[in-house]
Parts: sequence; C-alpha cells; structure tokens
Amino acid sequence: MSAALALRRGGFDGAIAIVDSDPREPYERPPLSKTLLSNHASLLKPIVDPATYREEGIDLLGGLGVCGLDSGAHRVLLDDGTALDADRVLLATGVAARDLNLVSGPRPNVLRLRTADDAGALATWLARGGPLVIVGGGFIGLELAAEARRAGIDTTVVEMAPLPLYGPAGPAIGQLVRELHEANGVRFHLSTTVAAMNSTHTSREVHEVVLNDGTRLPAAVVVVGVGVIPRDELARSAGVATDGGIVVDEYGRTENPWLWAAGDVASQPHPHLQTRGRIEHWDVALRHGEAVGLSMAGQLTALDAPPYFWSDQYDQTLQSFGRSRPGDTFVLRRDATPARFLGFWLRDSQVAAVMGLDCPREVRAGKQLIESGVTITANELADPDTDLRAISRRGALAKPRTEISQGISGQPADRHAGSPRST
Ligand SMILES: Cc1cc2nc3c(=O)[nH]c(=O)nc-3n(C[C@H](O)[C@H](O)[C@H](O)COP(=O)(O)OP(=O)(O)OC[C@H]3O[C@@H](n4cnc5c(N)ncnc54)[C@H](O)[C@@H]3O)c2cc1C
Repeated sequence: MSAALALRRGGFDGAIAIVDSDPREPYERPPLSKTLLSNHASLLKPIVDPATYREEGIDLLGGLGVCGLDSGAHRVLLDDGTALDADRVLLATGVAARDLNLVSGPRPNVLRLRTADDAGALATWLARGGPLVIVGGGFIGLELAAEARRAGIDTTVVEMAPLPLYGPAGPAIGQLVRELHEANGVRFHLSTTVAAMNSTHTSREVHEVVLNDGTRLPAAVVVVGVGVIPRDELARSAGVATDGGIVVDEYGRTENPWLWAAGDVASQPHPHLQTRGRIEHWDVALRHGEAVGLSMAGQLTALDAPPYFWSDQYDQTLQSFGRSRPGDTFVLRRDATPARFLGFWLRDSQVAAVMGLDCPREVRAGKQLIESGVTITANELADPDTDLRAISRRGALAKPRTEISQGISGQPADRHAGSPRST
C-alpha cells in the first residue's frame, strides 16, 4: 500500500493493481498478537481507509494468488488462470510463519500467527482456556503470552536460547523481560526445545508437548512462533537472485529491471545493517515500500533512517531504533527494572542502537544520538541523569541528520509515545 501511494505521489498516473491471496481488504498485522483476546473489535484494522483505493485509482484484487511471472512477456500469472500485463512488478510478498514439522498431518490446536484467519482460529481455541504452550520466546510469542495471561490463561513459553529475546536484545534485556513475564505468571522452559507433540488416539488434537530435556507439558493449545521464511518463491522461479530474501539494491531494484521488491521479503543493503539483509519491522515495511514506490515512479529514493520497531507486552511498550552488531558494547542505564529500562549499543564510542521499555522520550533521544554520530561514554549512557538530548545536539552541529521524507506516517516514536497500546 505504501509503495502504491508513493507511486501516485511520485507522479505515476498509470494503472496500479494490488494482488493479494488474502481475501480481506489489507489489514494491519501488529494488532493480531496484541489484541486478539482483549480487544477483538479492533483486530482487523484496515491499512488505509477503504475509500483510498477509489480515490487513488488502485485496483485491489483480493483472494487471488500470483502463481508465476513471465519476464519475457511481462505478464503476471494468477491462480484463477488469468494474467495481468505489467510494465513493472513490485514483489511485496512478505514472509510466512515457520513450522516445527514435528507432527505429520494437521493438528487443529497447533497454530501459528501471521494472518487474520490465524488470529481468529487462535482466539476461538483460547476461548476454551489453557493450558497454552508457546514455542518461541520472540516478539510474537511474548506478546501472545502477555495477552493470554491478561485473560487468565495458564501459559508456558519454551525457548531454545537461554533467555527470551536473547537474539535481538541480548542477555541483560532478555533477563529483565523474563522477570517481567514471570511476575505476570508466565513459566519459561529455556535452553530447550520441543522433541514431540503427543495427541490422543481418538482425536488429532495435541494434549502434551514433550521437551528435549524430557519435561512433559500438558497443552490445550500450542502456538508455534519460531520465526519466518521469506516468500521469495516467485523471484526464484523468475531467476532473480535470492539470499534468504529477494536481493535488491538501495532503491528496491532486483537484477531484472522488470522486478522490484520491498518490505519483509526484500534483502536490502540498509546502511544500519552489517551486511545486506531483511528487516521484519512494520515501520521499515512502510518506509521501504514508500521509498521503493517513489523510486519506481522515477524519483530514486533510498531508505537510510535507523530501523524502528515496537512491541506491546502487558501495559508496557518496548521500542528500539538502530541495529546492534557483534562486538558492540551494551550499556544498561543504572535505573533499570523489569517494568522500565533503557539500553544502548555503543560502537566506536557512538550509539548504534537503543532499546527501551516504557521510555519513549529517552528512546527518541537515543535515535537522535544515533543520527548525530556524537561520541559518548558508557558511563554517561549508564547515568540516568545524563541529558541525552543536550549531547545529541552537540553532535548535530558536527554532522547533518540523515532522514528520509516523513512519508505517509509521522515519526514512529512520537506515534507510540504516551499511548503504549496504540499500533
Ligand atoms: C502477529 C504480528 C505482529 C506484529 N507486530 C509487530 C510490531 O509490533 N512491531 C513491528 O515493527 N512489526 C510487527 N510485525 C511485523 C509487521 O507486521 C511486518 O513487518 C509487515 O507486515 C511487513 O509488511 P509486508 O508488506 O512486507 O509483508 P506482509 O504484511 O506479510 O504482506 C505480504 C502480503 O503478500 C501476500 N502474498 C504473498 N505471496 C503472495 C502471492 N504469491 N500472491 C498473492 N499474494 C501474496 C500475503 O497474503 C500478504 O498479504 C508483526 C507481524 C505479525 C505477523
């Protein structure tokens, strides 16, 4: 959607069709893991006002899958047997939730969470109560654990790393997040994974999850949140390079001038990444789509803003700008508690990334530090009395800020500041 709108803003006045195999009008995914039990009414939040499609001259072809690309004839093949002629194609096919492949055949109470249908099925199962076993202590698993605990459901999280969020946040924040969830009644089984899921002979429903260390967990519902696989099959079949995502340049161009890619599926050379890669954040999808849409309209635009994401868990909001790398020095501010904390990743005495729970102002200041490139010490960052804004202003004089246009949304940390549950 953001690419389509940016194409129009960039002056493209030809036909635009959005083809999506999901039959629903495009909706936001973040509420699916945050409000599926507490606010069912707001679960299906449309990405844009429905009138936008008509006003912007965008044809929405919902419930239709693209099954092939004919690069020679410039035709997009649809799974109802028809085809669309296209001068340019943007692949914004996202990712699919990864499976554990532990059971043969479908198990009705073993679910994943990517689509509105997934959320609907999960809400129906959870309405019957727990115990709920969540495999995967990443963002989606933890948001779901928080939702389930708020509804009083017995919840256990199984995670193969030593702590939840260990990969994206590291051990210190992982420990605080663990304590936040344990205080809310979540049980963790860490550094272990699932060996088997047992079902009764009479039904295909799983009633027990067996872990590698021999622990047996009773289960009424199992949710698998163990990461994603990119939906890059169309690009691969069209002979376009993929490396765990569709390889694009800074403007979203693949090596085939007919094909472009944006969002979760695109492997992009973002300046905040150590090497090219995919970034699976809502705000990045929106801004990358926008930049690639403008580029497709002829206004070459690169996305270079520090990647932003947020995650709502209980009444708290975790926010982050930038990307850490191996070798960065992590600094936790000294006043950290499981309910409110702020951490920084320092690289060459400059802030490379910031992450905070319920600290929207400080996270925004951290973003300014990243953009200003000012040098700062670990001691200054650890001190809750340090005026981060004043220090970033010092650096702003030395280095101009790098930021792309405001686009179709405002600054993300402002959007979430003060309203932790807004998405
Ligand atoms: C439950 C959940 C919660 C999330 N919460 C957060 C959050 O709190 N913060 C955050 O930063 N990010 C969050 N995200 C991530 C964010 O939603 C994604 O980064 C964003 O949706 C990516 O957008 P996209 O357009 O690239 O891909 P998607 O949103 O995945 O859209 C891809 C679309 O392509 C369609 N498609 C795929 N293949 C085909 C085909 N062959 N033919 C036709 N259509 C096809 C799919 O049906 C889908 O609608 C969350 C994601 C999920 C699933």
